[in-house]
Amino acid sequence: MKLGIVGLPNIGKSTLFNAITKAGAESANYPFCTIEPNVGVVAVPDKRLDVLEKMYSARKKTHTSIEFYDIAGLVKGASKGEGLGNKFLSHIREVSSIVHVVRCFEDENIVHVDGSVDPIRDIETINLELVFADIEVLERRLEKANKLARSGDKKAKTELELMEKLKAHLENNKPIRTLELTDEEKVIVDGLFLLTSKPVLYVANICEDDLLSGNVETPLVQKVKAYAKEENSEVVTICARLEEELSTLDDEEKNEMLQEYGLEEPGLNKLIHASYKLLGLISFLTAGEQEVRAWTIVNGTKAPAAAGKIHSDIERGFIRAEIVTYDKLIECGSEAAAKEKGCYRLEGKDYVMQDGDVVLFRFNV
Ligand code: GDP
Repeated sequence: MKLGIVGLPNIGKSTLFNAITKAGAESANYPFCTIEPNVGVVAVPDKRLDVLEKMYSARKKTHTSIEFYDIAGLVKGASKGEGLGNKFLSHIREVSSIVHVVRCFEDENIVHVDGSVDPIRDIETINLELVFADIEVLERRLEKANKLARSGDKKAKTELELMEKLKAHLENNKPIRTLELTDEEKVIVDGLFLLTSKPVLYVANICEDDLLSGNVETPLVQKVKAYAKEENSEVVTICARLEEELSTLDDEEKNEMLQEYGLEEPGLNKLIHASYKLLGLISFLTAGEQEVRAWTIVNGTKAPAAAGKIHSDIERGFIRAEIVTYDKLIECGSEAAAKEKGCYRLEGKDYVMQDGDVVLFRFNV
């Protein structure tokens, strides 16, 4: 479940990626996955863990994490093999969702590849490359499906019709994620691994001065928001350079700087939360004296599979889950009080986990 950071050159991708890796490296208190140079693992900020840490006087606090993949080098003509073209497109194929960074900061000293700052043109440049790449995939698939359909294969005929529809949509320069599909069609589309069917989050990279003046809704940001709204995507506004600086500071310095910019929290937190949502992820929590911890699951996961995140033995021997919602637990003031007031529910193997469930799994060893 990786996110790929894409965008044209010189728009602040590396700056943002550096902020992510530095922020990640600082909080050593979460489980690392294998780390490659272009993968940034970052803790998912969760204030609920701080509250639970105090409530339980826990010795350890463990955040969950997500991975960002730096996909630099996407340029105009990539789908035709320009630059390192196809290599980058294949990297995008490997990620579940896309974080598309666009330049909304003016700075004469930083050259724009197309000579001026125009985030919509930039978005369309990248999107077009992805559209071209998808059309190419479809053309190849259509050829195969055509042969099969001619030989009377019914399934191939259904697929053929759908692929024609997808291709026509792409030829109107529209990404597949904006096409309404039935559940059956979605299954087929998932199997095609198209780049433009992946969910996208736009990151509007603004300059420090916009932040300082309190005017983050600049005309360029507004344009990006209007564009994103058309395709039901979200926009996070961030100043990548400030984020990079923040990620190197200790807590006290960080708070001072946030205050100076009138920010409640780093923009990176907003980006991480929006990315988590984009991936369709939620967190359930476990709490005890030893450790308070957040665990990542896909929205819709049932209790036994969630238990399996902790240990496969717990999934195998699953009996039930004892669950209290985070809000209820806080309202009660302690685990004992929540139990006394009957706020814990007993849930079986068909229970669909919710974000913020505080859970104790019962299982046979
Ligand atoms: P990339 O090619 O997209 O990875 O772009 P970089 O992250 O290398 O950034 C290109 C240039 O833009 C660098 O000189 C950055 O310092 C500058 N830059 C990136 N983000 C910001 C920002 O938020 N504000 C300003 N003023 N400059 C930025």
